[in-house]
Amino acid sequence: MIIGFLKEKAPERRVAVSPETAKSLLAMKTQIYMESGAGEEACMFDNDYVKAGVKIATRSEVLASSDCILSVHGILPGEFDIWGNGKILVGHLNILGNLPLLDKLITYKTTSFSLDLLPRTTIAQSMDVLSSMATVSGYKAVLDAAMHLPRFFPMFMTASGTIKPARVLILGAGVAGLQALATSRRLGAVVDVFDVRSAVKEEVQSLGGRFIEVPGAVEKREAGGYAVEQQEEYRKLQSKMIHNYAIKADVIICTAQVPGKKAPVLITEETVESMLPGSVIVDLSAPNGGNCALTVNNSIITHNEVVIIGKVNYPSWISMDASRMFSTNLTNFARLLIDTEGNPAPDWNDEIVKYTCLTHEGKIVNEKMIAAFKE
Ligand code: NAD
Repeated sequence: MIIGFLKEKAPERRVAVSPETAKSLLAMKTQIYMESGAGEEACMFDNDYVKAGVKIATRSEVLASSDCILSVHGILPGEFDIWGNGKILVGHLNILGNLPLLDKLITYKTTSFSLDLLPRTTIAQSMDVLSSMATVSGYKAVLDAAMHLPRFFPMFMTASGTIKPARVLILGAGVAGLQALATSRRLGAVVDVFDVRSAVKEEVQSLGGRFIEVPGAVEKREAGGYAVEQQEEYRKLQSKMIHNYAIKADVIICTAQVPGKKAPVLITEETVESMLPGSVIVDLSAPNGGNCALTVNNSIITHNEVVIIGKVNYPSWISMDASRMFSTNLTNFARLLIDTEGNPAPDWNDEIVKYTCLTHEGKIVNEKMIAAFKE
């Protein structure tokens, strides 16, 4: 089978296949075509791909030749005419936010796999783009906050006086929150953490954070380790406790999410107005509504001397390492779609393949997505 990959649409700077992962894909008896310059924004150049055995072509040539496209965000809806019917597309398609693409996947009977639908099981960990990109985001969110903060992160004892360490508040201790905690601690900050899942308390403490418990959180076994929406009474108490920590914080990193729902609002306008001048909120939940009531997705605003960052496509900023991680995840997933002779052969008995498949033979086949469209 011929695998293709293309230059992603700006401002995305990641690339779906690195020269290293191209070698692994070629070892599966495939051929690979790439659009010239596809890896440039991630500092991966055509020469490196040629050395790995990839053929360089124009965008149209890649589309016309490929049985399967590996992508970060899919291809453009207008490109299906060139690509044709019944092909395979793999990427982080985030389809609820890209309905024109869904329309084409159905019309052109594309077998599409969206890695945001991947089950979060141990066996799927090596393909988990949500986790790898959350690691990138948690790290870079702290560095971005440090760049905006008019203060140091570490404590300094100098002849010019003693500088207290920055106080960081982290809302949500999933993959991004724990990485933000580790990064803040490495920079010398004092860190407080809120989460509704009691299971993360030990992880927070082992990374040097203080876990703030709010009594009365609802946790459900059937949620598979994820958070669930909380009752009104809990929300009020939590909001009050978060307020008390927020007004002393220099930086707040927001990462709280409940799968399938809008992100919970945990920081009110009133809280922002009581925060320290110069303090910074980085809201990684911005694309999903934000944990701060004032966050504007894809923008940076200042409210009452508090900087609120909703421009958080950090994986695209750390394009080189994020591409390495993303392409490794993608390649591990592609192994499930290719037989020993390099032919396309998705294993429909495999749970990971089944869960991750979005469209097949002109229909949406993913149950979560079917339910989401009915809502
Ligand atoms: P996520 O992005 O869905 O949510 C981030 C965090 O926000 C979670 O820790 C959640 O509990 C928290 N949160 C939700 N509502 C909140 C509220 N009101 N107040 C404070 N915090 C709130 O999380 P994630 O990073 O995707 O991870 C979620 C779970 O999935 C974790 O249990 C994680 O260990 C698990 N996981 C498993 C695998 C795997 O086995 N392959 C991979 C990644 C994550």
